[in-house]
Amino acid sequence: MTEHDIAIIGGGGAGLTAAVYAARARRRTVVFERAVTGGQISTTGAVENFPGFPAGIDGFDLAQAFLQQAEKFGTAIAYEDITSLSVEPDGRFRLDSAESGIHIARAVIVAAGARYNPLGVPGETELLGRGVSYCATCDGAFFKGQEVAVIGGGDSAIDEGLFLTRFASKVHVIHRRGQLRASALLQDRAFANPKMTFAWNTVVERIEGKAQVEAVALRDLETGATIVLPVGGVFIFVGQTPNNALLQGLVELDATGHAVVDLNMRTTIPGLFVAGDLRTGAARQLVSACGDGATAAIAAERYLEQAPAAAG
Ligand code: NAP
Repeated sequence: MTEHDIAIIGGGGAGLTAAVYAARARRRTVVFERAVTGGQISTTGAVENFPGFPAGIDGFDLAQAFLQQAEKFGTAIAYEDITSLSVEPDGRFRLDSAESGIHIARAVIVAAGARYNPLGVPGETELLGRGVSYCATCDGAFFKGQEVAVIGGGDSAIDEGLFLTRFASKVHVIHRRGQLRASALLQDRAFANPKMTFAWNTVVERIEGKAQVEAVALRDLETGATIVLPVGGVFIFVGQTPNNALLQGLVELDATGHAVVDLNMRTTIPGLFVAGDLRTGAARQLVSACGDGATAAIAAERYLEQAPAAAG
C-alpha cells in the first residue's frame, strides 16, 4: 500500500497542471496515467490557442514540457490504470491500481478527460487500425497520396482534416448538417484549402473494405440519394464522451455524464475534486483544462490544511 497527499488521476493538461501546483506546495503528489501523458494534445499537431506561443507549438512537445515541469517539482508519474476509487471510513481515498495494488490518498483530483465517440456504423470496428482511425496525428502519414474521409463538423474534425491535407491527396469532410460547428478561423482555412471537399447533410451508412478500408457508403439526408465514395482512410471525430467510470455512483453526474463541481472544482465529497473535460460546463480547451487543474490543486491544498485529523 502506498500513501500520497494528493493523487491525480489523468495526466493531461488538467492533471499535469494540478500536479505542478500540488508538488510546488510540497505535497506528496502522484499522477496516474493509463496511456500517454499530455492527454488529447499529445496527439494534436499544432496547438495555436495556448497563450505564450504566438507561432503555435507542437502538441506532443507541449505535453512533454508539461510533464517535465510537473516532475521538476517532485511529482511521481505512474503509468498505471486506476480501476476503482472509493472513500475510506476515515475520509481518505482508496485507489486500486491494476499494476501496483492499493494506494491511499488524502485528496484526489480526477482529471481523466474524455475519449472520442465511435460512429456506430458497420465496418467501423472491423476495420479499426486498417483504415479507420480516431487520430490523424497518429495515423495520417499512412495515407500519403490517398483520398480519405473525415466524419464530423466540429473543431476536431476540421483541425484534424486540415492536418491530413499534408499527406492525403483529398480530404472529404462528411457532415450531417449544412453548416460546420468548428470555429470560424478553422472553417476559413478549411474552405480555402483546395484539398478539402465537403459533403453536406450527409451521413455514413457503412465503411466498406476487406483487409483495408476501400470506401464509405454515404446517404444524402435531403435527397435520400446514396453513393459509394472510394477512400483509403476514414477518420472519425463525432464528439467525445467523458471518462467518468471511476465517478459513477460516487458523485453527481449531469445529463451528459460530466461531474458536477463547484467553482473550486469540488464535488460533494470532501477532498474529491474533478478538473478539465470531465467536469460539467467545461470550455473543453487546453487552457481552461489547465486552469481547472490549478484551481483544483489550490482547493485540494486548502482542504488538506483544514482537513480533520484522519484525512489530514
Ligand atoms: P464537437 O464539438 O462535439 O463536434 C462533434 C461533431 O460531430 C459535430 O459537428 C456533430 O454534428 C458531429 N456528430 C456528432 N454525432 C454524430 C453522429 N452520430 N453522426 C455524424 N456526426 C455526428 O466535438 P469535437 O470536435 O471533438 O470538439 C470537442 C471540444 O474540443 C470542443 O469544445 C472543441 O471546441 C474542442 N476542440 C478544440 C480544438 C481547437 O481549439 N483547435 C480542437 C479540437 C477540439 P453537429 O454539428 O450536427 O452536432
